[in-house]
Amino acid sequence: MRGLARAARARCPECGERAIWARWGELAERCPGCELVFLREHGYWVGGLIVNLGVAQLAFAVLLLGTVALTWPDVPWTTLLVAAAVLVVALPIWLYPRTKTLWLWVDRTVHPYGRSDGGSSGRSSADG
Ligand SMILES: [Zn+2]
Repeated sequence: MRGLARAARARCPECGERAIWARWGELAERCPGCELVFLREHGYWVGGLIVNLGVAQLAFAVLLLGTVALTWPDVPWTTLLVAAAVLVVALPIWLYPRTKTLWLWVDRTVHPYGRSDGGSSGRSSADG
């Protein structure tokens, strides 16, 4: 669970290092704290994007259904439209680095491997 908390804060899931970003949204080659290799095979980060969009869609559904349920029959449609538009644009952008580290944590939890192999050997056939 420590790794999950670290990943949710866009830090290295292994050691909690902050300086793992080459630039916004792009991980460095490896973690300066624990040497975990972040380079992955082509298509690896699609899982993170799916998590990102799934969370954004879930947040949109909660906002929409919650607002309608709490304010029916006088639903503030214009306010809801503006709030939903801001949410579906801003949330995925804010989540993007976090879902990358979260996806890395998920992968390392499901498929434990060493820090230097990048975890890609023998598992990339589904990526095309
Ligand atoms: Zn690390």
